[in-house]
Amino acid sequence: MANLIDGKAIAEQITNEVRAEVGELSKKGIIPGLAVVLVGENPASKVYVRNKQKACEKAGITSIKISYEATVSEKELLEKICELNNKKEVDGILVQLPLPKHIDENKIISAISPLKDVDGFHPENVGKLVLGQKTFLPCTPAGIQQLLIRKEIATAGKHVVVIGRSNIVGKPAAFLFLQKGIGGDATVTIVHSRTKNLAEITKQADILIAAIGVPNFVKAEMVKEEAVVIDVGINRVEIGENESKLVGDVDFENVSKKASFITPVPGGVGPMTIAMLLKNTTEAAKLRV
Ligand code: NAD
Repeated sequence: MANLIDGKAIAEQITNEVRAEVGELSKKGIIPGLAVVLVGENPASKVYVRNKQKACEKAGITSIKISYEATVSEKELLEKICELNNKKEVDGILVQLPLPKHIDENKIISAISPLKDVDGFHPENVGKLVLGQKTFLPCTPAGIQQLLIRKEIATAGKHVVVIGRSNIVGKPAAFLFLQKGIGGDATVTIVHSRTKNLAEITKQADILIAAIGVPNFVKAEMVKEEAVVIDVGINRVEIGENESKLVGDVDFENVSKKASFITPVPGGVGPMTIAMLLKNTTEAAKLRV
């Protein structure tokens, strides 16, 4: 049976570290501030925003929520971002994705000041990540990397296979593990919906990262014996009338019998994403000094 990687506990540890840093900043009169922009009524987005705000409170970070109806215009949203870019007490700006179809997500993300882009999605910050320069790292990939570092699971020389090529998880995760240094130096392969013989490649992974959005996609026969399996997926599945539960992208029951380490869903990568957001917001606040 695989060792469970307790993302909740590690996230708590990081939150405590952030709280201590916030304490130091407050001595200089700086209270880190995060602005969260929520558009529409997507229930999952609402839960994510609530959890992010709760975590900010725990760490001593001030968070403000700006909510809009789904019908808000792109222009109005851009104006708000411009206003937040200029507000001294706002160190980080997060626009909860996805946005309604009539709003160009790329335009909105590009409007956020790269110095306040605590999600690490701005093209300038993505470019820096690719080049191996210091920048705000996207929270979910950075959270995965921290899980491995803090569990002392070496990545150097290992074959990391990432399933999924999204801009939020798959692509930045691949670049992160490719970088030189601690938590990097891996040989990285990305597979996706158009990959042929996907299981042949995933079976070669020393570390397998699943970011697909398909419940229980990764089966035991797709995983090498003793592999480290990181499940990024968050999927709500019906389990009866008016009853549902969260599951990941990995068939946990069977894969956990084969893997050496595995993350649970919930309680694995999810809490780490939020912890890294707190970390990025505090780093952004340090730029005020
Ligand atoms: P996405 O839909 O943007 O990307 C999914 C990727 O999976 C695509 O690149 C696609 O090529 C690949 N894919 C889809 N079907 C496939 C198939 N049959 N075979 C191979 N590849 C396939 O999703 P995303 O934003 O990257 O999110 C992925 C999952 O991670 C979702 O369940 C999402 O809810 C979850 N997520 C979790 C966190 C967290 O904090 N834990 C953060 C972000 C996303």
